[in-house]
Amino acid sequence: MNNQTIETQVVIIGAGPAGAGASFFLSKYKIPHVVIEKSTFPRDKVCGDACSGKTALVINRANPEWLTEILNQSTEYLPSWGIKFVAPNGKALDIPFSPNRTEDSKAPGFTVPRFDFDDFLFRKIPSPYCTIYEGASIESIEKGEKVTVVINHNGAAITIHAPIIIGADGDKSMVRKKFLSENTVPKTYAVGLRAYYEGVTGMHNENFIELHFLPEVLPGYLWIFPLPHGKANVGVGILSETVREKKINLREQMLSAIKNNPDIAPRFANATLEGKIHGCGLPLAMERQPLSGDNFMLCGDAAALIDPFSGEGIGNALYSGMLAAMAVNEVLPEQNFSADRLRIAYDDVLYKRLGDELKISATLQRLCKYPWLFNFVVNKAHKSPSLRNTISCMFTDMDLRQQLSKPSFYLKILFNR
Ligand SMILES: Cc1cc2nc3c(=O)[nH]c(=O)nc-3n(C[C@H](O)[C@H](O)[C@H](O)COP(=O)(O)OP(=O)(O)OC[C@H]3O[C@@H](n4cnc5c(N)ncnc54)[C@H](O)[C@@H]3O)c2cc1C
Repeated sequence: MNNQTIETQVVIIGAGPAGAGASFFLSKYKIPHVVIEKSTFPRDKVCGDACSGKTALVINRANPEWLTEILNQSTEYLPSWGIKFVAPNGKALDIPFSPNRTEDSKAPGFTVPRFDFDDFLFRKIPSPYCTIYEGASIESIEKGEKVTVVINHNGAAITIHAPIIIGADGDKSMVRKKFLSENTVPKTYAVGLRAYYEGVTGMHNENFIELHFLPEVLPGYLWIFPLPHGKANVGVGILSETVREKKINLREQMLSAIKNNPDIAPRFANATLEGKIHGCGLPLAMERQPLSGDNFMLCGDAAALIDPFSGEGIGNALYSGMLAAMAVNEVLPEQNFSADRLRIAYDDVLYKRLGDELKISATLQRLCKYPWLFNFVVNKAHKSPSLRNTISCMFTDMDLRQQLSKPSFYLKILFNR
């Protein structure tokens, strides 16, 4: 075995959206770093494949030309203009993402299989400041004054020393387990199944993504997301504790809804399942948790940053990667990689920017336990264009979204105020 030793400033484990996001911005700051990825791209990731405005925002900040590249390929990155909510009583509500849209507006979201999207991100990582080891396995991670990672790459043993490690290695994060000794498992976890179908009918002509809050999967939902080339990503997501408590067979439940639900089944009459149905965990951001410590930071799923209501994790992964790189840029001149310093430079900044949004989503997620509340809002919104407009604005206006978690919002609807 050939042996090699590398001294660098940062070592990133994982090259999904979180790791790619961190690497893009470290390169922008001209900070030398190493990215270690166990898979070889392109690779699959079980996901709903829906990317929000936050994903577009980070890509645009990393390099506006990359976002233009995406927006110019609407056959591969399907623009989505809104969301369809289907209440437990079966009533549907179409909510556009941008109520004040003009002719020049670009769709705020898009869908693309992760097989393609993550490969797109990965191909953007190379820079003079980054060394990438793809298809590498980690032999050991040790912490002394610096972090030392030993990897096996194509049979060669490579030892990497860096003052900081960024754990961007997904929901089963090895870095989280190794470094966050008192908090190895995210507190709230959901599980999801994903299937690809061809030939599902009845999609919105502006590619609205669909969330069906079926009574049997509350507080989770079944989704149908249109994909490029006439395909669809179909899945269910639900809290793990609900699966355990009610002894739910998620796969059977999803297939039963597709076969028997009166609104859904006719749309699948001529649809074919492509490949297998795969499952994966969703570590949800229900409450503030530590994201860093001496010499390490966690990003994306490794940090349990999935939005507890929408299930959105790609945007938060990219965003947290960006903030971790900013934190490195801040602490590097001081050579202070202590837990106290990183908490200020990373955790505090992240929760200042995303904390309110995550808190509101956690409350909304809890409210999903009450099907009558859902039915009530959707029934009222059907009759009231102004309520539909308010809900639409909630996608971009956090103050407005906060109203959803207050009893006064529902009382106002009740009395038509
Ligand atoms: C069923 C389901 C549906 C979802 N739907 C959506 C959706 O529609 N929209 C949305 O925004 N989010 C969705 N999410 C969440 C989203 O998939 C994740 O939040 C997102 O992938 C997190 O990105 P990440 O980079 O943190 O982790 P990942 O995407 O998991 O990337 C981690 C990377 O680290 C690598 N890695 C892991 N271990 C090691 C190791 N030991 N050494 C080296 N490399 C390693 C992996 O190979 C991988 O490439 C969904 C999740 C699930 C499970």
